[in-house]
Amino acid sequence: MKHVVIVGGGFAGINAAKALGKSSDVKVTLIDKNNYHLFQPLLYQVAMSALNAGEIAYPLRMLLSRYRNVTVFKGVVKSVDPRSKTVFTDFGEISYDYLVLACGAKHHYFGHNEWEEFAPGLKTIGQAAEIRRRVMDAYENAERSGNDLEKKKLLTFVIVGGGPTGVELAGSIGEMSRYYLSKYYKNIDPKLTRIFIVHSAARILNTFSSDLSSKATRALEKLGVQVWTCSVVNSIDADGVQVGNERIEAGTVLWAAGVRATSIGRKIGFETDKTNRIIVLPDLSVPGYPEIFVGGDQANFALEGGGTLPGLASVAIQEGQSIGRNIMLDIIGEPRTPFRYRDKGQMATIGKNASIAERGNVRLSGLPAWIIWLAVHIFYLSGVKHRIIVLLQWGWSYFTFGHGARIVNKEWRFYANQPEPAEPADPEPMEQDPACAFNPVDR
Ligand SMILES: Cc1cc2nc3c(=O)[nH]c(=O)nc-3n(C[C@H](O)[C@H](O)[C@H](O)COP(=O)(O)OP(=O)(O)OC[C@H]3O[C@@H](n4cnc5c(N)ncnc54)[C@H](O)[C@@H]3O)c2cc1C
Repeated sequence: MKHVVIVGGGFAGINAAKALGKSSDVKVTLIDKNNYHLFQPLLYQVAMSALNAGEIAYPLRMLLSRYRNVTVFKGVVKSVDPRSKTVFTDFGEISYDYLVLACGAKHHYFGHNEWEEFAPGLKTIGQAAEIRRRVMDAYENAERSGNDLEKKKLLTFVIVGGGPTGVELAGSIGEMSRYYLSKYYKNIDPKLTRIFIVHSAARILNTFSSDLSSKATRALEKLGVQVWTCSVVNSIDADGVQVGNERIEAGTVLWAAGVRATSIGRKIGFETDKTNRIIVLPDLSVPGYPEIFVGGDQANFALEGGGTLPGLASVAIQEGQSIGRNIMLDIIGEPRTPFRYRDKGQMATIGKNASIAERGNVRLSGLPAWIIWLAVHIFYLSGVKHRIIVLLQWGWSYFTFGHGARIVNKEWRFYANQPEPAEPADPEPMEQDPACAFNPVDR
């Protein structure tokens, strides 16, 4: 039996595992630092209190339980030695016959990692929780503030980056300010809320056609969002951002401006592009290492007409499936097939009844695009229970203008890209309830 090690339980990793899970000729080990698969396209809804984290995260063990030859390990892969075919993890070494790298991407602050503290990005559940805490705290603090200047600053939100995530965050804050603030906060005038998207390119959503991008801009403006294009952030601090000569005093700054693949490929010594993506051959293997494949956001797949495939869930899904198929073809001694991407189009949502969707020459906006957006996200979400709950949450929010998950917890801490530091030892041992006084050995 050949041993396939898959690093990463994102879209690419789980689809490779599923494709291999159908065979009794391979043993598969999937390693992820989390024990769940995260549906990142709905992460902004967790950050904006529309959904709970558990509704978009699905345990990897449950997801892959019916594939008897797939084992899941929770752990961090630190490095790989391609010569000895060994993966080094925080729980030991694992040797492989085939390796699939599908570690995804992280935020990229363009050499200014110090900004992360003031402008968290959105890639993990921890970051979504932190963004939710900052946005809700801004409202709470504005509600009790008697100082107009302070109130104005607290109610100013800056989103750096006008791609789909930036637009979704800005649109959600716009909707919350418009519908939620006026209903539940008695001391806040919703008109005081200012939301900015600061985007370095000439138009937001610049992978979409220009007419859809303009429609999205207009929909955002209706929600009170000011879109600053061709604007580059020079600095970010605890009190706001500097954009060229303009200073925006803001209580909350969010980062949606750039991602970069995890650096593991560069560390191993593979050829990478400037965003750390590993350059792959048409069958998604690494040049010189036919037994190592790369999929999803970590792969730089060159298109015949020039350019590379973008970091999209549909790309990662198809790449994962293709990698699994090619490993199986190898095992049965048949030639591999080159990867061909079937373009599923792209979508972005601004708010209720307002989305844009584009596939080839078909361009939709407004309600029809929004309905398609809802259907596609429900379809790709893992787990029937999750789908039903999310549908119910959305239905409730649609008719009540209320979001169900507005709870924030003081203990939620900022999770940076680095793993969490170890907890200090508890100085005071927990008091034992006398009713629980039993000898554990007797139990
Ligand atoms: C907020 C947001 C919104 C998005 N919206 C959309 C959208 O609407 N439509 C769309 O098509 N795409 C969207 N995307 C992009 C899409 O989610 C990604 O392209 C896709 O998740 C990439 O899949 P992947 O398998 O390459 O990586 P990921 O899904 O990121 O998975 C990588 C996995 O690897 C694990 N991992 C990383 N390093 C290690 C390590 N060293 N050891 C062990 N495990 C490791 C991680 O824990 C993670 O589970 C969005 C992304 C974000 C962040």
